[in-house]
Amino acid sequence: MSSVEPGRDPGGVTGLGVARSLLAEAGSVVVLTGAGISTDSGIPDFRGPNGVWTKNPEAEKVATLASYLADTDLRRRAWRSRLNSPAWAARPNAAHIALAALAASGKLHTLVTQNIDGLHQAAGTDPSLIVEIHGTMHQVMCMTCDHRSPMEATLDRVRAGEEDPPCRRCGGILKSATISFGQDLVAGDLRRATRAASECDLLLAIGSSLAVFPAASLVPIAHHHGAAIVIVNAEETEFDPMAHAVVRVPIGEAIPAMMS
Ligand code: NAD
Repeated sequence: MSSVEPGRDPGGVTGLGVARSLLAEAGSVVVLTGAGISTDSGIPDFRGPNGVWTKNPEAEKVATLASYLADTDLRRRAWRSRLNSPAWAARPNAAHIALAALAASGKLHTLVTQNIDGLHQAAGTDPSLIVEIHGTMHQVMCMTCDHRSPMEATLDRVRAGEEDPPCRRCGGILKSATISFGQDLVAGDLRRATRAASECDLLLAIGSSLAVFPAASLVPIAHHHGAAIVIVNAEETEFDPMAHAVVRVPIGEAIPAMMS
């Protein structure tokens, strides 16, 4: 546990200095990432100033399980937009790469990501250290029989003219293997993330509005168990007052600088 008092750091460059010291002192780090770490890779976030929902609140409907299951037209639109997602061409940025170096140093207990883009794995972080708590866009799952298969093969079917391709095993509705609103998280993933938050001595939350639960609750869980908290995000979050450092420096600069 660090000697720095929560809420004492005003953020910005000062926050970065405190964050760097906390990271140097820490023996076991849990990282929680959100959409903000991937904006420099060309994938818009949801709630930032240029976020998908900030610009088009209708997009939230596509991410709601009941609407997706009930509405064929919405599913057709969802498959078309999956075809054109900027995430297929995205490459890891300096922050993903710096976190892969943290993993290689042996200090990373677990990386819990709310992102579905696979960029932490692409950056070289050991997949066994990663919990994709909101699933992955690189697979599809059948909402009836749970069968999973690669996204690319299903997108080929859409390109070939199937507007809403059904499961080839049971005829059920297919969806990207991501957690929609109204859909339960995978219990084992949530257990693993919660245990990690309660075991670490530093929790580093990067690029998340910390507005989506239960993922955001990892911050108070870690705090409750005595871990230091560092939040790196352009905007305020509900949990800033509990943080030992709040860093407002852009993520692509802040994370490599914290590791140096
Ligand atoms: P969010 O959109 O709610 O919040 C992102 C935060 O990051 C915002 O507060 C924004 O100001 C900040 N931010 C963006 N770019 C930044 C930068 N370069 N430097 C500093 N701060 C920056 O994201 P969330 O909390 O992850 O919740 C959104 C949900 O949407 C998640 O559950 C996630 O599964 C999903 N999502 C994933 C992706 C992805 O996989 N890349 C993209 C969009 C949404």
